[in-house]
Amino acid sequence: MFDFWRRALFFPFAMLLISLMLWGMAGALPAVLMFTSALLLYFILHLRQLAALDRWLESPDARKVPDGAGLWEDIFAQLNKMMRLQRKEREQHTAALQHMEQATSALPEGVVILDEADRIEWCNPIAEQHFGLDGTRDIGQQITYLARQPEFVQYLATKNYSEPLLLRGTRQDSLTLSFKLIPYGDNKKLLISRDITRFERIETMRRDFVANVSHELRTPLTVVNGFVETLCDMPNLDNDETRRALHLMAEQTQRMARLVDDLLTLSRLDNALNALQEETVDVPTLLRTLYQEGQSLSGGRHGLRLDLESDCVLLGNAEELRSAFGNLISNAIRYTPQGGEIVLRWQEQGGQPVFSVQDSGLGIAPQHIPRLTERFYRVDHSRSRETGGTGLGLAIVKHVVSRHQARLEVASEEGKGSTFSIVFPAKRRLPLPEQATT
Ligand code: ADP
Repeated sequence: MFDFWRRALFFPFAMLLISLMLWGMAGALPAVLMFTSALLLYFILHLRQLAALDRWLESPDARKVPDGAGLWEDIFAQLNKMMRLQRKEREQHTAALQHMEQATSALPEGVVILDEADRIEWCNPIAEQHFGLDGTRDIGQQITYLARQPEFVQYLATKNYSEPLLLRGTRQDSLTLSFKLIPYGDNKKLLISRDITRFERIETMRRDFVANVSHELRTPLTVVNGFVETLCDMPNLDNDETRRALHLMAEQTQRMARLVDDLLTLSRLDNALNALQEETVDVPTLLRTLYQEGQSLSGGRHGLRLDLESDCVLLGNAEELRSAFGNLISNAIRYTPQGGEIVLRWQEQGGQPVFSVQDSGLGIAPQHIPRLTERFYRVDHSRSRETGGTGLGLAIVKHVVSRHQARLEVASEEGKGSTFSIVFPAKRRLPLPEQATT
């Protein structure tokens, strides 16, 4: 700073000194004339440099920073240095951006960046294939102008992106695509698309295989079971060992038959093409029947109670609901020791219909609860087998619950008992026939 003022004031001071000396030698007029002309020259020189700077600022080019003399030489040198630094930083940023673009382009998923109005800001080549986009032409276009499938447009509008959207045979007939929207920053969105055709094919093969095997096993099992039962009932069967063996065979074939039935039920529920057949389900009547069945399954070993606190009816599938409710009731009976209490309850909570089964049985430790609805997951293998469980009951319940947009809640304490509740959405509650007419 000091250097700047020293250099800036050197010329005017030198001129002042010379003018004062001239004043002494030749009088005031030549001295004043000389001083003003020197200042004017100094002023013009600065003005020229300023004009050069102004011209350059109008279209700054890092390679053409003006040259200057004296004070301006330093200023322009610093400007030059700044511009070089800035150019280097810009080059580094561009390289980083290109690197990012290359990495994102190499992703096996399609990536589209959408702005706050769902206009395309950028997309990678896989997204171009999945959406039929052109990465240069379509920038700035609304995504829904280019990807017009109604399901996709609706998915974008719902603003609930917790679950991915599946679209089968959309652009290219043979492709199944999964889409996921991830909001970020200031209302921007990342749209990720994945080709899950192979995965879907394997899933379908798995499902078909299980369904076919189960179906094929059904007939031979029925035949074997029939013969075993006939043999069991033969009056001249006096060998105890043979009788025991036959009873065991009957028990096991029945268990296999239940397993096959449960596998078939699951593959039906699991099939995306098998949409929910909705009808009016009179839940109180259904529960009275299930209560009777529960009584006979319990054989008087438990205190079984039915609490119908609501008489509301549901929009759903009676067969599926019967299967889900029946599984929860059968579990409560099988996992509650003799003398325990079981309550079946139908009620409404905040406008939502709720079915619950409360038991005073074995209860479940907290670490098992999140995994209960997995196929073949058992807390206690021997107990499940002893009581004739297939390990598929709660998996069936989970599917039925999700097909009815309901949720399954489990509250349990080891050694004290459990409550399994199915909470239905309010929209599934139908007005009673007399309410509907009034
Ligand atoms: P399973 O045929 O073995 O009963 P489920 O899918 O119906 O299969 O249930 C999974 C596991 O959850 C069971 O093996 C059991 O350990 C546990 N379970 C289910 N319901 C209850 C209950 N009411 N009380 C205690 N444990 C239960």
